[in-house]
Amino acid sequence: MSRIKIKDKTFETSITEAEILEKVERVAAKLNKDMEGKNPLFLAVLNGSFMYASDLMKFVTIPCEISFVRVASYDGTESSGKVAELLGLNEDIEGREVVIVEDIVDTGNTMKRMLEMLRKKNPAGLHISTLLLKPGKLQVPLDIEYAAMEIPNDFIVGYGLDYDQQGRNLRDIYTLVQE
Ligand code: 5GP
Ligand code: MG
Repeated sequence: MSRIKIKDKTFETSITEAEILEKVERVAAKLNKDMEGKNPLFLAVLNGSFMYASDLMKFVTIPCEISFVRVASYDGTESSGKVAELLGLNEDIEGREVVIVEDIVDTGNTMKRMLEMLRKKNPAGLHISTLLLKPGKLQVPLDIEYAAMEIPNDFIVGYGLDYDQQGRNLRDIYTLVQE
């Protein structure tokens, strides 16, 4: 266990790089089996999923494509509340098997909006792959077929995930220490 400080907060190692890679390889093996012959399009959601997407793709051995998108969220009118927009999707996904690659599903609201936006483009199938899932925080029903790891409700950083934009470069995952 090692402790690090990022800005005003202290974090402690909770999942090592070796454990992460073992779980990522397992997800890739399932994808290799399920998506064989389907030429899936992996859509990695920036910024948080860059490290997961990179490692996952190294274990994926079937023909596939990868592209990167961003979800921009801004305040809409009072009646519509938060409005989300999908940026950077240049591929035509109609009739394709799409696998969303996310860093973490917390309440699930971001994923729900993403699914709504992608569904309008008529893919053949929409699948969710997330590095981390907090089952205790999930507020919306989601069919998450490919979750590498389930974690408690604590705030984590590292392996692509940030605290105030810091810590994305850490190789291990760290949990916030409540002081
Ligand atoms: P959701 O919409 O599922 O509640 O969460 C969406 C976003 O919140 C994630 O994509 C991620 O950016 C952020 N998030 C949720 N939990 C954590 C966490 O424990 N650590 C970090 N760094 N970000 C989180
Ligand atoms: Mg994310």
